[in-house]
Amino acid sequence: AYTIEQVKALVREFVDFPSKGIVFRDIFPIFREPAAVECLVSHFVERIQATGQQIDVVVGLDARGFLLGPLIALRLGVSFAPVRKGGKLPGSVAQVTYEKEYGADVFEMEADSLTKGQRVVIVDDLLATGGSCGAAEELVRKLGGVVVLDAFIIRLAELNGDKRLEAPVYALIDC
Ligand code: 5GP
Repeated sequence: AYTIEQVKALVREFVDFPSKGIVFRDIFPIFREPAAVECLVSHFVERIQATGQQIDVVVGLDARGFLLGPLIALRLGVSFAPVRKGGKLPGSVAQVTYEKEYGADVFEMEADSLTKGQRVVIVDDLLATGGSCGAAEELVRKLGGVVVLDAFIIRLAELNGDKRLEAPVYALIDC
């Protein structure tokens, strides 16, 4: 069995990836070890349950939020709904445009992926500026949902991403 400290130690840093000056945090070594995934998912489920709030939907962000999100949703016995980059989802969608470092980007959710008043946890691998998660919060609100918690494996604390988010933030690792 893994301890949560051992899970944290599996995250690796790659200097100058994907471009010079960027330190990339790679979470995939965790997914090579079923016991580490088990520990990670249990940890997040406990943190979510510790809010004492009812949860109806776990929302995962494109793309690495799709790794952890469905596992947490399954464990909680609730729905999973993806936030995807623009143009990937069929049918009626809700859409938000947000600013990234190099220009604007579009996030979408299927309009029927959550119903009015449902309570949501947003999950992603990493919080940097908060632009992505802020856009996801806005999408959830557009569909009438309420964001109870934003949960991440890693937070780059000095970028102050929390300030762009309305819901409370939980991060397993601060760096
Ligand atoms: P933000 O919108 O908060 O500035 O950036 C967060 C998004 O960028 C997340 O969806 C995350 O997956 C991605 N991201 C940025 N830097 C890294 C990194 O170093 N490692 C990983 N795994 N994802 C990153």
